[in-house]
Amino acid sequence: VYMTIRSLNPATEEVLETYDAYSLEQTNAILDDVATAWESWRTTSFSYRAACLKRAAQKLRSQASELAVIMAREMGKPIRQGEGEVGKCAAVLDFYAEEAEGMLAPERVEGVGRKACVTFEPMGTVLTVMPWNFPLWQVFRIAAPSLMAGNTMVLKHASNVPQCALAIERIFKEAELPENIFRTLLIGARQVESVLDHPSVFAVSLTGSEPAGRKVASAAGARLKKSVMELGGSDPFILLPDADMDEAVRVATLSRCGNTGQTCIAAKRFIVFEEVYETFVSRLSESMSKLVIGDPLESATDMGPMSSGTLREELQEQVDRCVESGGVLRLGGALPKGPGFYYPPTIITDLPPDASVAREELFGPVALVFKVSSVDEALALANDTPFGLGGSVWTGDEEKGVEIAGRIRTGCVFVNGLVRSDVHLPFGGTGSSGYGRELGVWGIREFVNIKPVCIG
Ligand code: NDP
Repeated sequence: VYMTIRSLNPATEEVLETYDAYSLEQTNAILDDVATAWESWRTTSFSYRAACLKRAAQKLRSQASELAVIMAREMGKPIRQGEGEVGKCAAVLDFYAEEAEGMLAPERVEGVGRKACVTFEPMGTVLTVMPWNFPLWQVFRIAAPSLMAGNTMVLKHASNVPQCALAIERIFKEAELPENIFRTLLIGARQVESVLDHPSVFAVSLTGSEPAGRKVASAAGARLKKSVMELGGSDPFILLPDADMDEAVRVATLSRCGNTGQTCIAAKRFIVFEEVYETFVSRLSESMSKLVIGDPLESATDMGPMSSGTLREELQEQVDRCVESGGVLRLGGALPKGPGFYYPPTIITDLPPDASVAREELFGPVALVFKVSSVDEALALANDTPFGLGGSVWTGDEEKGVEIAGRIRTGCVFVNGLVRSDVHLPFGGTGSSGYGRELGVWGIREFVNIKPVCIG
């Protein structure tokens, strides 16, 4: 009845490990244990919880290489990028360990009764449904605030990264958190609804595709359970004629090809002023061609394979549709021979903006470049998408950049910088990119009971 969960190396196509998915009974038994553990975890002090998270951060740092190898073998992330990811996970644990108490301190409110205070209380177990693209970061960035707030957590990770999922559970165990504060559920997508049925699970945080978001948000809504949805994106990268071209090309390459292009906040649509259009296309092509593509276990590798054969097929099908719709291939676009789900850095120009594929998310190293002649035209194109996750503006005039940023309808905009998540800033989207925010003070307040206590 229950599916088999498979760990497969996308660079060699070799099956590394298979696991039987947990049964309904096993899953419910774990959820009961987590609910029981919450009863004491919720009463612990911030300093106690902080010490737990700090120990987990240390475990991560001391095992960065091993964890990067697990990611490389299971979803193809080059090990240097994997080690960077582990460092970021340790940093988010430290950040919330240090800041949570201040972020959740009771707040005095004047003008009501004799005295009023708003308090922030934990509520139970948060279910997190996570994707494979940043298999550690996505989990720790939600685990750190949830645990510090006094909630417990269960993880349903993507079915292709069970080893990452088990490694995260192990890290918390080795860091000697109380038992059952954080548990991994090896279950398929269809078992998620039954987790939402458990009375102690009061909320779900999902990162992934729009269809998955719609399904899980509906299931949560039907049960009146809160949800935060961090879904896909098709971020615009607007390049004005007065921008620093070297820096723009460097970041464009990094953003579009880092993690083999499988990033929600990657720049996906390059909207370039006509004055610098040809220069940009040829410079980007030169820069993307220089990337070292190969074995993710080699430290010189910039780009590994895509995480699965299915996703590579879907990407190739989208590239074919771009070409059928009038797009011109300026780089890449053809599948390499040999084993592994490799996809070459690809640039497509001249795609009519109203082609349906132009409004989809391309989850791989494929840059769509559009030519525009005014700010209004650039903004109309930037906003002509159902998504609204991030975006960037490149210009020598920062004030103008900020003004343009204000007219982009997304969850965040960077001027002359790489769109990235940062522990200090809220992270999330608008429209089909989802709702709710992670990180910063905004993230930790998503999953608490915001409760005033008034006297008189
Ligand atoms: P999915 O959105 O399908 O997977 C993300 C997570 O959601 C996984 O844990 C998955 O479980 C789970 N899930 C999927 N469908 C359901 C469901 N109906 N009910 C409950 N849980 C569900 O991503 P894919 O790996 O299939 O990638 C497909 C596309 O999604 C990509 O090409 C990309 O466009 C987008 N994507 C965007 C991400 C982002 O960061 N914005 C991240 C990953 C993908 P399971 O693995 O068991 O199916």
